[in-house]
Amino acid sequence: MLLRNCRFIVTQNEKREILENKDILIENGKILEIGNNLSKKDEVVDCSDKIIIPGLINSHTHAAMNLLRGVSDDKNLQEWLNEDIWPREAKINGELCYQGTLLATAEMLLTGTTCFNDMYFHTGDVARAAEKSGMKCFLGQVMHDFFDEDKTDDEVKNAEKEITKIVDLKNERIKPAITPHSVETCSDELLIKSKELANKYNLLLHMHLSETEKEVNDCLKNRGKRPLILLDNLGLIKNKFIGAHGIHFNEEEINLLNKNNSFIIYNPCSNAKLASGICPARELNYLCIGTDSVASNNNLNLFEEMKFGVLLQRVKYNDVGAMSTQRIFDSATIEGARALGIEKETGSIEIGKKADLVLIDKNNIFLNPNHNIISNLVYSFNGTVSDVMINGNFSVRNKEIVNFDLGELIEKVENFRELF
Ligand SMILES: [Zn+2]
Repeated sequence: MLLRNCRFIVTQNEKREILENKDILIENGKILEIGNNLSKKDEVVDCSDKIIIPGLINSHTHAAMNLLRGVSDDKNLQEWLNEDIWPREAKINGELCYQGTLLATAEMLLTGTTCFNDMYFHTGDVARAAEKSGMKCFLGQVMHDFFDEDKTDDEVKNAEKEITKIVDLKNERIKPAITPHSVETCSDELLIKSKELANKYNLLLHMHLSETEKEVNDCLKNRGKRPLILLDNLGLIKNKFIGAHGIHFNEEEINLLNKNNSFIIYNPCSNAKLASGICPARELNYLCIGTDSVASNNNLNLFEEMKFGVLLQRVKYNDVGAMSTQRIFDSATIEGARALGIEKETGSIEIGKKADLVLIDKNNIFLNPNHNIISNLVYSFNGTVSDVMINGNFSVRNKEIVNFDLGELIEKVENFRELF
């Protein structure tokens, strides 16, 4: 396939080049060449009025919770979970998980996201939805034993079973991850076993970390250590560790993260909504971005997340230099890819990488006048992309979902409302 005469290509390569009026030649799902007057292949797409950006990466989601949009908007994390979320989640079976995740993939695709890093239940069903959507993802079965040692082994066994389901799909777009919930809900024993499982299969270890002050205080009181120090002592933050939220860190913890090249996933909207605090992103060397679930956000639009994220940093530090516009865009593209260990395959538009591309109408009202593309994308664009391609296949074409009937799905999900 040839994307001909792309008006702008926001490459996100090493030099952060923005190319003009170039063709992108795609073969076998990969970018074969970027240049002028490239040879015509079977399919040619005129991109003379398009801006092409790398597919965005949402590094922290609970996709199936799209079923719970708007059920609880005015409580802090603990009350929100205990009173409004956990009782409803108990009703989400495998089929509901499938439908909820499919709905989430539609929302992500229609706002330019091509890859997500998810933790939830019924992971085999989440994987089926991801497979149908065409998206890339990392999927983990949430583990928590609530310090009940009778539950620990079952949690691990169940997670391992779900990993097998994902592996059995033999779909290279869908990768398993290990996802203990947090230090608030996982015993030392479960955390150690999570680490062993991650090592056994060489997988990403993704968990919530230092989201609230309460989490830090409980951990200090009950275990004598702050959450990150506990995880370090148990050996979790070596290798492929990625922590979601990462708000309440002291200097020692920040140094530890930076020394270990550990990524923190910044979730500005969710953190603000639940009044959890603001991630000290300026002090962290390795940062990617996520939306968290629709129940705490209340959408999965990374363009909105980027804008709010960069502004919130400036408020936190009362300093316009607290975060650059380019850094927040990086966090949703190449740095997201790095955080998930897939930077050789995606996160930028470069020869040899997979064709994970988002096409945006250059004439979109929010993108004109075009003094600065990155500025417009971060601060002004509302996320209504025109086309999305993953591994060279369109998942969105002319603002429509390609792989399933979204209208039908919305109707189905609307009928689930009475369950919750
Ligand atoms: Zn979360």
